[in-house]
Amino acid sequence: MGLKFTLKKREKDMNIGNVKIGKDFVIIAGPCAVESIEQLLNTALYVKACGAHLLRAMVFKPRTSPYSFQGLGIDGLKIVEEVREKIGMPVVTEVVDPRDVEQVCEVADVIQLGARNMQNYALLREVGRTSKPVILKRGLSATIEEWLNAAEYILSEGNENVILCERGIRTFITETRFTLDLSSVPILKKLTSLPVIVDPSHAAGASDLVKPLAKASKVVGSDGLIVEVHPDPQHALSDNKQQLNFDMFKQLMLELNELKC
Ligand code: PEP
Ligand code: MN
Repeated sequence: MGLKFTLKKREKDMNIGNVKIGKDFVIIAGPCAVESIEQLLNTALYVKACGAHLLRAMVFKPRTSPYSFQGLGIDGLKIVEEVREKIGMPVVTEVVDPRDVEQVCEVADVIQLGARNMQNYALLREVGRTSKPVILKRGLSATIEEWLNAAEYILSEGNENVILCERGIRTFITETRFTLDLSSVPILKKLTSLPVIVDPSHAAGASDLVKPLAKASKVVGSDGLIVEVHPDPQHALSDNKQQLNFDMFKQLMLELNELKC
């Protein structure tokens, strides 16, 4: 496949805060998008109390429609920084433009590259020149080989800290937003020593499907989850159907902890 770096054994540990990525089962939780300081702070306090390790805090939203809420942008980064400092929780935030990478890196503990940017090669290279851990989400219709080649762009620039994230692919199924390709997890775990996490929220597109998909992801050997949680999902500015409310997240955490695998 011509994959030089993704198939290599990883030498170093990837530690973020007090979680060992690839060893501990990492839980990343937070809203689809940062909407206000109160919303992010309340969510962060809640998910942390439930045992989440990292906060999802997106301010640049790559939306399918240019008319949908695009996130708070650079102003939102100030909110992320404030909440990060206040509660001492590492944050994951997305970057969509190579010109913003430097500024985002000043706040982010982990950078996310979304599904729609999996093959944005300028962005992959720019992030590859940093040393920040990067969550690389699978493209909407990407094969595993295309996905690993995207990871090669980051790794070949010198950044060894790539985390792959399965988030569902486009199929003929219309009952879910995407089809979660659970088999990609054991396939990738066999092929590469990069950590593999799962995003059940964007795959499902419906909050009641998040828990079963999340539990299945743990069972098939994923290294963690990134889950959308919102204090009032119905009124969320984006992805209101799939975000978990606080009670649903608490229940998910309880049931994940009961799974012995
Ligand atoms: C996200 O995680 O905020 C997101 C938009 O997901 P994806 O890129 O997988 O669609
Ligand atoms: Mn979302």
